[in-house]
Amino acid sequence: MPELPEIQAHAERLTEEFGGLVLEQFRPLSFTALKTAVPAPEEAVGQPLAGVGRRGKHLLLDHGTVTFVVHLMQGGRLKPDAKQSAKPRFGVARWRFDDGQALLLTEAGTEKKAGVWVVAGDPTTQPPLVDLGPEADALDDATLSRLLADHPMRLHGFLRDQHAVAGLGRRLANEICHRAKLSPFAATAKLDADEVGRLAAAITACIDESIDYERRRADMSSSADRPGSVHHRVGEACPVCGDTIRAVEYRAYTVAYCPTCQTSGRTLADNTTSKFLK
Ligand SMILES: [Zn+2]
Repeated sequence: MPELPEIQAHAERLTEEFGGLVLEQFRPLSFTALKTAVPAPEEAVGQPLAGVGRRGKHLLLDHGTVTFVVHLMQGGRLKPDAKQSAKPRFGVARWRFDDGQALLLTEAGTEKKAGVWVVAGDPTTQPPLVDLGPEADALDDATLSRLLADHPMRLHGFLRDQHAVAGLGRRLANEICHRAKLSPFAATAKLDADEVGRLAAAITACIDESIDYERRRADMSSSADRPGSVHHRVGEACPVCGDTIRAVEYRAYTVAYCPTCQTSGRTLADNTTSKFLK
């Protein structure tokens, strides 16, 4: 799933390309595209796109009084639509602007979870954004410390929980735990001040490096393409210590870690679920 850095860089590219264009038509292309009934998307017609913003992993197409909130989920993409064919492959929704350009939301795969919310007023105070935690790129040590205490769980799950911290996913959770030299299974409520400080620094460093990388790209990359130390590097040598990167496999994702850097050499096993998944 695209995470904060990919979404942020993409929002900046879309603002550059489409900012100021007046919306001529919004059209859902699938039954699951539009997640809201009121206000009608037509209320944005005739309004210029002030810019494309981001909250968590959502893109915000700001048309003044009305905002389109777009969630790409796993396989969704929002791209310039040069062809504008009647039935585009994987098409979910299309925005057409008065200069003839269009944006197309697509979703590959079978999940069909990507969608569009139309929101009047401040979008951050309403669904689907109202329950999101603070932005991951705006955390100080004190805020992070409070969030960790408020969400007693495993660190990797905390980092991916959008209600705790918004914007991170599987890739950055893996990279941040490795950078902070913390076990992905560390108990959030038991981290000491030094560990919280390392975690805060790791979150900032991993996000900053990823945004720099994404801003140099012309479009969103797949997560396998991105530089990293542990994510998609299972079986390879840790770039810090040379130990072999290990994995705990779940049905939908992989927790990747370095035993020497993160777990005092111990191998992790998921005692709570692994025996049921075999
Ligand atoms: Zn290592």
